[in-house]
Parts: sequence; structure tokens; C-alpha cells
Amino acid sequence: MEGYIGKILYFDLSLSKKDIRDLDIYDVKKYIGGSGLGAKILFDETDEKTDPLSPENILIFMTGPFTGTPVLCSSRYSVISKSPLTGIFGESSSGGSWGEMLKKSGFDGIVIRGKSPKPVYLWLNNGEVELRNASHIWGKDTFEIDSILKSETNSKAIVACIGQAGEKSIPLAAIMNDGVHSRAAARCGLGAVMGSKNLKAIVVYGNHKVEVKDAQGLNKSIKELSKIIVEKAAGLKKLGTAGALAVFEEMGSLPLQNWRYNDRWKEGAQKITGATLVESYVTGDYFCKRCIIGCGKKVEVKDGPYKGTEQSAPEYETLALMGSNCLVDDLAAIIKANELCNRYGLDTISTGSVIAFGMEAFEKGLITKKDTDGIELVWGNGDAVVEVVKKIGESEGIGKLLGLGSRKAAEMLGRNAEEFAIHAKGLDFPAHDPRAYNAGAVAFATSARGACHLSGFSHVFERSLAAPEIGIPEPMNRFDVSGKGILTAKTQNYMGMLDSLEICKFILFGGMGISTFIKWYNYVTGEKMDVDSFMLTGERIFNLKRLYNVKCGLSRKDDFLPPRILTWKKVAEDLSPNLPPLGTMLGEYYEYRGWSEDGIPSKEKIEELEIG
Ligand code: SF4
Repeated sequence: MEGYIGKILYFDLSLSKKDIRDLDIYDVKKYIGGSGLGAKILFDETDEKTDPLSPENILIFMTGPFTGTPVLCSSRYSVISKSPLTGIFGESSSGGSWGEMLKKSGFDGIVIRGKSPKPVYLWLNNGEVELRNASHIWGKDTFEIDSILKSETNSKAIVACIGQAGEKSIPLAAIMNDGVHSRAAARCGLGAVMGSKNLKAIVVYGNHKVEVKDAQGLNKSIKELSKIIVEKAAGLKKLGTAGALAVFEEMGSLPLQNWRYNDRWKEGAQKITGATLVESYVTGDYFCKRCIIGCGKKVEVKDGPYKGTEQSAPEYETLALMGSNCLVDDLAAIIKANELCNRYGLDTISTGSVIAFGMEAFEKGLITKKDTDGIELVWGNGDAVVEVVKKIGESEGIGKLLGLGSRKAAEMLGRNAEEFAIHAKGLDFPAHDPRAYNAGAVAFATSARGACHLSGFSHVFERSLAAPEIGIPEPMNRFDVSGKGILTAKTQNYMGMLDSLEICKFILFGGMGISTFIKWYNYVTGEKMDVDSFMLTGERIFNLKRLYNVKCGLSRKDDFLPPRILTWKKVAEDLSPNLPPLGTMLGEYYEYRGWSEDGIPSKEKIEELEIG
């Protein structure tokens, strides 16, 4: 089928044995690729008894039908596994150029199982598969590994790897790709799964071509739309994802002081927002492969204690979680902390969140200077953030506790620390306050992987985006309640498709929408998808992930948000004191989804979606 290479590599590390299987076209039509197809494989091959860090867990790398074609912003891949951070369905996706090169190497995806007796890396070279010794790179950081493995294989090869955090199976560990450009499949601790298998890296290279059914039609459409995309997304190019940080502060959606500060933080936000970053530190732009938007930035710190730090710029999420959420306005320190996370291979969202949690525990006396080896873990201390990142990456001292993520760290600390552990289903919150977006609250509570802004993206449909094809003619008022369950269900189905086709969601800010994605899918594959089948497929994918979590014992009781988010109002005069009425919105959401009041997909719904 066009849009696919047609092969998946299954590799059992315990047996050092490969098995190259044909892509199952029946599954591909039902689950598309990327996130959807990965979820299907995980659903079939693991269950509630699978220990995430055991050889029985599988680690899936999957591209989509857009990957490797001329479709814009499409060099993406998803990683799917049972998460060691949450114990449920886990997934994360990344850009850069690794996804496209994986396909060029001759595979749509890779499924890793087992555990190697010693450190190894996989070298996929134009259809050939070789398992190589990685003892000499064990203990090295992701930047070092990238250059060593390129010199050992091919200077044009692309490396996805873990740093020291993954080796130590720290539940906040990420899988990094593209070396110093630091693109990351960061959420859910999937780097720890890779480390538990003694798999240090997967290096890919090749020149396989992805066939497109109607290349002429696709190229013409892309040519026509490129100018519009570049113009509409110009803000992202100019200031990167950090550009909106000060605006989010005005809207009350920027996390502050572990989500507790309920006043304005104008001056602090100005010090770490995109405009300041560009003015003081940015040295260039970065584009993922096939991207014409270019939201990535390169930075250099030219003076002060972090002088010489030169790497990709912290994204909005990083600036917010390691910055404002810790009340840190020291941009150079955040840049350094970001660089360390990328080298160790750590999720900057969860790492920033758990450091803010640690600061609150320190303030309350649950953690002392004795525990932190003398680090003053106080609000606003950027140097402390840098030092604690090192401790988490090395899994030493206080880093051992905080590296478990805020849910587990709170359990270990006891003494009501759960009250200020800000997570859903064990996944620490990303930087979009659900008190500022009611649909955002539903999305955080119901996302399969835990607190997630991307799998629903519904908060953006309460701010600037519309999808008239599916009954969202204009952005909804963010504080409305009625309709937010339905909005969230629709956008989750929609985003599930983008994660399965593998296309960057920022192209939505370039004015693209469902009709264009369907047109491109049909050009690539020759299929005849329409809006109804697009949404039905997205719904199937979302329900499959839910059913995986139901297998793991989850239900309505787990679709929760922390009490601080549901009860703690913002009091500044120009901020809304809104608290999301989660129970009411969940009722609407379950009904629209055809789930029971307890949040379980009904038998009829499962049959209608042909999940099985
Ligand atoms: S918009 Fe940004 S994240 Fe998306 S593909 Fe382009 S550079 Fe990558």
C-alpha cells in the first residue's frame, strides 16, 4: 500500500533474533500507523500483568503514512509502550529527522522485546539489521553518543538514543534523537523501558523511497498551501513556542509555584518569554525535516555562570515548568537545565514539575538541606534547578526520590505530600492550566497517557482554532461548560488521527485542517477517506487506548484532577477565578463517547468501532 514501506522489524533482544514481518494491511486501514498502529500492537501483546521494566514489555517505534513523503511537517514517529511512570498505556512522539530516516532504512516501525545481557545498539542500514556492542558508550550522554555512533556507522545516519537517565531506568527518562538538536520522545518515561532492555541506541540510514499514489496531486496541493502556512505560522518561526509565554501568563494558563501562586507574575514572565529569549540568546533557527515553519531555535549563553552553554532553545513547556512553575526567572539557568535534561535524556516537563513539587516539600519541611546535600531548594532559585537536574540524571541523593515523578515521590514522602503532587494518572501536568480552559480540564483528565495537552489539544479550540468539518465552526469560549465534553471527545479523535498519520500539530496554526489532511492522505495512499471515516478511525484509536487502560483497572475514579486544580482559585483582579466543573463535563463526555457512567466503553460501542 502506498505511503508505507510494508515491513516491521521485530527484534527480541533476549534471543538476539530478528523477525521482519509484512505490515498487516487490515490493521493499517483500521489504525493508520504511528500512535494508532502502535497502540494496537501494544494492546495485543501486553496486558495488566506486564511489568513495564521487564523483558516482557515491548517498546514500539512507529512511523505513519505521511512520514517520508513530501507531506509538510511529517518527519515524526511515535514510541508506544507500557509506561514505567504511570503503569498504564504510554506514548510519546518526536520530530527531527529520525522518523523519516527509519522509513528510508527500510522499515515502517520496530518492535523491541526481551532484554539484552549486555549494552547494545541496533544499526539499521538500508534493510540490513545488525545488533552491535554498546559497552563503550554506556554511561555517555546523548550528544556524545550521537557523534560516536555516526562515526561508527555513517555520518549521514540518524541516532535515537537514551542518556544516563534511561540507563538507570529513571521513570522520567526520554528517548532523544538528532543529537544537539534534541528532539525528544520524552513523556511517560519510555527511555527507562529502553534502558531496562540494555538498548542504548537505534541508528538508522538508507535510501528506500516511500511510494505516493498521486504524487502530482500531492505536490500541487503542497505548493498551493505552503505560502499560507508560512504566513500564518510566522509567529512560531519568529519567537518559537516560547513566544506565547507572556500571553499565557495574562490568560492565567501559565503554571506558577507548583500551580499554587494565584496572582499575576508579569515581570517574571517577561524575563523568560520568547521575545527575551530571541533578543538575548537565540543564534539561529531549527527546522525538523520536511518542515517549513521552523519553530525550533538554537541558543548560546555568552556570559555568566552558564557561559558556553550552546544548544537547542528551551521550548515553552520547559520554560514554564522549569521556570515559572519554580518561580525562576533566570533564563540562563533554565537554558542550562534544559541542556542537562537533553544530555541525560530527561523529560523536561516532568523534571520541571517534580522540582517544583520538591520546592514545595522543602518549604513545608518535608525535605531538608540534609536531604538535598546543601542545595537551597527554594522558589526562584535557578541554580538549585540546575543542581537538582544533575541529581535526577545521576539518580543520586534527592534525585533518587524526585526522579520517580511527583506521584510516587509524594507517596514515598507521605505526610499529605499527595496534596501538592500535580499529576493525572501519574503523569505530571504540562504547562496549560486547566482552570483557564474547561475543555483542557476534560482533556487532562481523560487522556490515555495521563495529563496531556497534545492528545486532545482541546484548549487550543477554546482559544484560536476551529474545525468546521466536525461542528466546531469557531473557537469556543474557554469558560463555557456546556459542550466541553463533546468538544474534547471530538478533538481527541481528531488529534489521534494526526498522531497516527504522523504530522506536527503546529501545522494547524498554519491554517491547515481536517479537509487538507484527508486530501493528503488520499493522495498518498489512494484511499477514499472522508470526514466521517477520518473521525471514526480516530474514535477507534482513542477507544482502543482506553480499553488498554480499562484492562489495567482504570475507570472514572482515575479521570481525576488534583484538588488544587479543582478548588484553588486565582484571585488577581484581571484573572478569572474559574474552577473547572469536572464532574459535570465528564458526564457529557462519557455520554457522547458511548461509555458507561463509570467511564467504560460499552459493548455496543466496541462493536460499532470494530475493535478486536
Ligand atoms: S513546527 Fe516546529 S516541531 Fe513542528 S515540524 Fe516544524 S520545527 Fe518541528
